[in-house]
Amino acid sequence: MNENINKEALFKLSYGLFVITASDEGKDNGCIINTCIQAAENPERIVVAVNKSGYTHDMILKTRKFNVSMLDESAPMAVFEHFGFQSGKSVNKFQTAVYGAKKSENEVYYLTEHTNAYISAYVTDTVDLGSHTLFIATVVKAEKLADTNSVTYDYYFKNIKPAPAAKAKGWVCKICGYVYEGEELPADFICPLCKHPASDFEKLI
Ligand code: FE
Repeated sequence: MNENINKEALFKLSYGLFVITASDEGKDNGCIINTCIQAAENPERIVVAVNKSGYTHDMILKTRKFNVSMLDESAPMAVFEHFGFQSGKSVNKFQTAVYGAKKSENEVYYLTEHTNAYISAYVTDTVDLGSHTLFIATVVKAEKLADTNSVTYDYYFKNIKPAPAAKAKGWVCKICGYVYEGEELPADFICPLCKHPASDFEKLI
């Protein structure tokens, strides 16, 4: 813990919310990320940061390709639960054509529902950031799907994330709003949605 770093200050950073998808030897997977930026335009290059604990991370590291589907403001909590609250190691998130999933030319799924665009890219460089890997990638395809507003982290917090029930007992993740139900939060608990540790939870009262 660095006392010079006030996490409340870091919370002021603005982010979008995206579903990043990968495919490896017939297995398809995807997860929620909040970091995807266009970093250059000639050629078009993007960078994404993906948590190492997820299966999608390992697939991208191996196959060097991915899609990013940009969620719009119509995205219900169920999208975040489907891609964020369960692991592709135990669940096939694409068993059905979930959220209008289609495959792009790189054989990776993208979502056509609750999204307004997608990008296909291939990885040119990786940077080990500790908890996350930064993937630097060149865009091979970018398609607009709708004229809707992209969802921001702030919008998600204010309009999508369910308010903790008045009598709910448990702990809420200050980062993403995930609620852990139970009196005691295990010290080694990791938020299933945003992967932040137990220290980022506060008790519901
Ligand atoms: Fe969280």
